[in-house]
Amino acid sequence: MERVDVAIVGGGPGGSSAARTAAAAGADAVVFEKGVPREDRAGPGPDSTDAAGMLDYWLDLMDEDPADIPDEVILREIDGAAFLGPSEDVFLQSTGIDATYDGFGFCYHRAKLDDWLRREAEDEGADYRVGTGVKDVTSVAANGGYRHRLTLHDGHEVEADALVLADGPGRQITMPTLDQFLPEDESASVRLAPPETNHIAYQEYRRFPEEVFEDDRISFWWGWMPGETAYPWVFPNDGTVARVGLTMPIGMDLDDVENPEDYRLLREDDDRIPGGAEYVRRLLEELYGDEYDVEEDFPRVESRGKSKGTETYPISSTCPIESPTGADLAVVGGAMGATSAFHEGGTHVAVRTGKIAGRRAAEGTLDGYNAEWKDAIGSEILRNVAIADVVGDFGPGDWDRTFRVTRQIQDASDGGWSLSRRNAASASGGLKLYAAYKRAKFRYRKGKYVQVRESEYEV
Ligand SMILES: Cc1cc2nc3c(=O)[nH]c(=O)nc-3n(C[C@H](O)[C@H](O)[C@H](O)COP(=O)(O)OP(=O)(O)OC[C@H]3O[C@@H](n4cnc5c(N)ncnc54)[C@H](O)[C@@H]3O)c2cc1C
Repeated sequence: MERVDVAIVGGGPGGSSAARTAAAAGADAVVFEKGVPREDRAGPGPDSTDAAGMLDYWLDLMDEDPADIPDEVILREIDGAAFLGPSEDVFLQSTGIDATYDGFGFCYHRAKLDDWLRREAEDEGADYRVGTGVKDVTSVAANGGYRHRLTLHDGHEVEADALVLADGPGRQITMPTLDQFLPEDESASVRLAPPETNHIAYQEYRRFPEEVFEDDRISFWWGWMPGETAYPWVFPNDGTVARVGLTMPIGMDLDDVENPEDYRLLREDDDRIPGGAEYVRRLLEELYGDEYDVEEDFPRVESRGKSKGTETYPISSTCPIESPTGADLAVVGGAMGATSAFHEGGTHVAVRTGKIAGRRAAEGTLDGYNAEWKDAIGSEILRNVAIADVVGDFGPGDWDRTFRVTRQIQDASDGGWSLSRRNAASASGGLKLYAAYKRAKFRYRKGKYVQVRESEYEV
């Protein structure tokens, strides 16, 4: 049987980054990526679905120098983010967080970012194998540590001293692998099951008429469709092509929606929650339908995305889990639930958790992994979990109020954006919002945002 030092399941940003640092630390590191076909990549590669926005301070969290990112990855610099409620909006031109990157952020080509991260790993000597997925993992205690046997779908077996799970928010391998260390009634398969904790995302690549293409901003419409963390967005790419997409909870029932008539993307004759493609069509109709024939003037760009200009994807809008590091195992990125529970940004935290896990797996110091990722990205996770908590049951009116307050706070922030008690006090309703955010942060302080604790694993 083949033996390796560090095996990595999944070759997205988390997996490639783990392979890169593991190989750099001298380990024999192998990535197993099942391989997903995309219109915009020759041959199968990692999944690479992403609206693909990067904010200034995320580069610091990734621990990447922007100068190292190849030009072909960056599609367009942006000046800010627009948040649009049913009738109020706000345009933020600063994240309000210190960053070394000089600018608000940029939109990037996700497949090219993933391909670059793969090259970085291979340059360090990692072996990146694409085309056959991992079917299952068996972990057994051996010689005072653990050994992990991976069986691939083609029957090939590999044994590894350390395992990094980077299979993304679908967690098809993460859940059963963690189940080996959890009591049956507390299993990961139940606690992390997609319908319980995950959302579905859908996006289309559309070519916009030049006169309405907003190339300087990413835009989010909140309070336009029902559901927690449910919102459509537009991200400008190259030329006048934008990704138009949305995220929404899996399996929502229209009967559970209070005041469906308040949502601009629902229709009186809906008998169920619309599908992703229908939501995208309705958004474009609402925004441009008076002056344009949406299907004709905003055509889908079929040469991009996973299939004819579209992509569908699971996404874990949830809290992160700790890893059973005593079993020489680390879970990273989307698989560990590090993707933001509020805005779905997650590539940066996948890269960082991957880097930490890979290096420690190679050094044999995985026992420090949970503490180190909290130190590196804990403030980002806390911020996102707290905001998600505050806005969890917001309806359209709450979003309008919040954007009005945010605009007033912005006006009080000397041209930038910073949330302080003093700035909040300058907006009517600002202190209430500020207090709710502070309370949520307090509730989740000291890592209380963690969904599965290391102490729960039986290792
Ligand atoms: C629609 C959408 C928009 C988003 N927008 C943004 C954004 O603008 N900015 C941002 O930073 N983040 C965004 N995110 C989040 C971001 O995509 C994720 O946080 C990030 O991809 C997580 O990286 P990862 O490596 O952990 O997982 P993934 O990128 O999901 O990679 C996991 C890999 O594992 C492979 N795999 C799965 N199972 C197996 C198996 N059994 N065997 C072998 N391989 C397997 C998959 O093929 C995949 O390539 C968005 C997500 C979605 C869905």
